[in-house]
Amino acid sequence: MPIDATQPYDDQNIFAKILRGEIPSTKVYEDDWAYAFEDINPQADIHTLVIPRGAYVSWDDFSAKAPDAEIGGFIRAVGEVARMKGLVEPGYRLLANIGQHGGQEVPHLHVHIFGGKPLGPMLIAR
Ligand code: AMP
Repeated sequence: MPIDATQPYDDQNIFAKILRGEIPSTKVYEDDWAYAFEDINPQADIHTLVIPRGAYVSWDDFSAKAPDAEIGGFIRAVGEVARMKGLVEPGYRLLANIGQHGGQEVPHLHVHIFGGKPLGPMLIAR
């Protein structure tokens, strides 16, 4: 069930538990601002998730409330993970689902990094 992106932050969400080390994840990268790990149900040859360490429900919450340094650190981390994965030359796709129409399932901001082969159309044809 997609979440309501306007809901308050719930620190029992699964990505908050991953950040606290309460449930396992396959770590790809971490720094002061972000943590990256492999998606448990990959939708492409490469499917990595990058999340901010801060408590933000969605891209909306983050872009409205996070300090500039945190926004900068998170965006740089997304770029760093893509470089680490060798995705710059072949290309890749970023995706952030927000709320009901976006199909967001986990109420902690996450950016999907997809790559590894041509990814096809941006959206399913209407
Ligand atoms: P979204 O629909 O944008 O909220 O995407 C949530 C993503 O989180 C999906 O691609 C799931 O496969 C992924 N996911 C859910 N639980 C885990 C987990 N424990 N470890 C890694 N990825 C997860």
